[in-house]
Amino acid sequence: MFETTIAGSLPKPGWLAQKGVLWPDWRAKGAALAEAKRDATILALKEQEHAGIDILTDGEQSRQHFVHGFLAEIEGVDFTRKVKMGIRDNRYEAEVPTVTGPLRRRKSVHAREAAIARAYTAKRLKFTLPGPMTIADTVADAHYGERQSLAMAFAELLNEEARELEGAGIDVIQFDEPAFNVYMEEVGVWGIAALERAAEGLSSKTAVHICYGYGIKANIEWKRSLGREWRQYEAIFPALAKSRIDQVSLECANARVPLPLLGLLDGKDVLLGAIDVASERAETPEEVARTIEAALAYVPAERLFPCTNCGMAPMDRALAAAKLKALAAGAALARDRLGR
Ligand code: ZN
Repeated sequence: MFETTIAGSLPKPGWLAQKGVLWPDWRAKGAALAEAKRDATILALKEQEHAGIDILTDGEQSRQHFVHGFLAEIEGVDFTRKVKMGIRDNRYEAEVPTVTGPLRRRKSVHAREAAIARAYTAKRLKFTLPGPMTIADTVADAHYGERQSLAMAFAELLNEEARELEGAGIDVIQFDEPAFNVYMEEVGVWGIAALERAAEGLSSKTAVHICYGYGIKANIEWKRSLGREWRQYEAIFPALAKSRIDQVSLECANARVPLPLLGLLDGKDVLLGAIDVASERAETPEEVARTIEAALAYVPAERLFPCTNCGMAPMDRALAAAKLKALAAGAALARDRLGR
């Protein structure tokens, strides 16, 4: 009970990439970069094991950004045609590549990373991929003409990739869909259909991560503008509860999400964000335990998996390590108090 996991990313070591930014430059090239990514992946796994996390990720050490990492091996995406564009309904600006033709996977994108991660831990492994709606929101489109067909085209490629990851021994495939919290109406119209297309035919557990973003300035300001109660989840959880996705990863620590909204996910595993990725201080185990206990009024204990609110990519490494320890210790404390 209360098995812990993380949303996905961990900070990268300074010798691998530029620190503290969302689109960091790599420190090396070619074979040296491949070796550095491998070493960082092993460290990320060991850091999680050391903290006592149960379901690990590769810390997304091999990708520059959680969306653009997947696009690196996709034909039809032109990284030489980068444009500045407002993303997440214009919340912040990003430099994004352009879709210039039909999309096709040149080769497996993450097989090597998954194999490395699988070789270095005996624990269960989760692998994260960007969700189709979020990808469509993080590229410029000069070919498909509308977001739904663009997202569906990406969903097919994601499904090919996910099937390979499953074959490589990955236990949980997670799709990251922060865009679900922004375009709530489109989620019901085509967002969940695209997500289910991406997850089609998988026998591993499937998850979707929906959050209020990394702890960056634009997101912190956005959250301040959302009022006393954040009710975005209310618009999308009922449809997600009916979907074929097994798990929903959501933000709950220091969030203004009304807890009764968790009750809308009846029948799903809830990956409960109990660690704030925007704070400069590690939670105490007591604080984590209290977040878990508050959610128990709406989520059965056997369906509750304590997690981080979001990825920790731009965070200080020592702080991230302390937060991992607090997460595992807080889950243990909550278990003890329940007497199991
Ligand atoms: Zn997130």
